[in-house]
Amino acid sequence: MSKSSRKPADIPRGPVRSFADLVGFQDIITAFHELAARDRVPQVLLFEGRPAIGKRKLLARLAATIYCESRQGCGHCQGCHSVIHGYQADLLWVEADGPIKVAEAEAIQDHLSYQSSGAQRVVVIVDIEDMNDQAANRLLKTLEEPPPRTLVLISSSRARQLLATITSRLVRWHVQPPPIELSQHWLMHALQEAGLTLSTTDVRDALERYSLAPGRALLALKMANSVEQEAQHRLASLLLKPLEGRDLHELQDLLKQQGWKANELAQHFELLLNRYYKWSLGLIAERPSHWPASVGAPDPRLLRQRRRILQQIYRGGGQGHNFLNAQLAAEALGSDTAF
Ligand SMILES: [Zn+2]
Repeated sequence: MSKSSRKPADIPRGPVRSFADLVGFQDIITAFHELAARDRVPQVLLFEGRPAIGKRKLLARLAATIYCESRQGCGHCQGCHSVIHGYQADLLWVEADGPIKVAEAEAIQDHLSYQSSGAQRVVVIVDIEDMNDQAANRLLKTLEEPPPRTLVLISSSRARQLLATITSRLVRWHVQPPPIELSQHWLMHALQEAGLTLSTTDVRDALERYSLAPGRALLALKMANSVEQEAQHRLASLLLKPLEGRDLHELQDLLKQQGWKANELAQHFELLLNRYYKWSLGLIAERPSHWPASVGAPDPRLLRQRRRILQQIYRGGGQGHNFLNAQLAAEALGSDTAF
């Protein structure tokens, strides 16, 4: 799965953990099943909708219906497991590091044109974004005339930015955020699993604040909670001043231990700064407790540099959704000691 150059050892697990906590999308799933039963699923589908509403899991669930013994994406049979745990050979899961490159477009083409066991060949492209002309041309060829018995499922949170030549070849399916009651239920459960108890009001507020995207609300609630505070404290003490030799190891350990994805690391950093600025402007009374005593006002040049590097890490990490390589991230952040 994922991009072709990634070693299996770097892959922490399959694309999803299970389908048990897939929230909403029942209308899409039912419609897809009906189309599949009549052998009428369009060969190239684009699922567009806001970020962090669960499109990735939806794609995994739809892809699983192809290999599921009951054709329902039951989540329990061997076919479903092969998708969940990322060992289905007829499925290519592309979660590209940034825009799709020519080599990836070629891998997609190769995967679809290779006929092996006679099972349907599927490609899933998570969060497609604009790509260079060469890659787009290569991908266009495939999307224009996909080989028979193949299926391409694509998701995007920014479909409007895609080239019209690409989108005109896709059947677009608009994905609405799950109903708030379902998201609320999912969030309560996810928070409980993380050892947090929050009131339904807090959970609902967070959902509304984050445009009903349960993924973003969960992250924000976790970040605001004490479980994460210790880690934030350590992150602040490392990132708000130039890193010295020993700090690099500590940063690496912290990143490994927390298992953050690139978007989470970037958000943590922004949250730290946000609180500091609020305090310095007098919007909150208490000096942020996570602010290390050894750091006064942060050096603006250092902050700019950190932001720039975090942005690169974010872009380099499939728009932040991939797990961080702790060593590379720490080294990149440490490369600015002579800023
Ligand atoms: Zn199944």
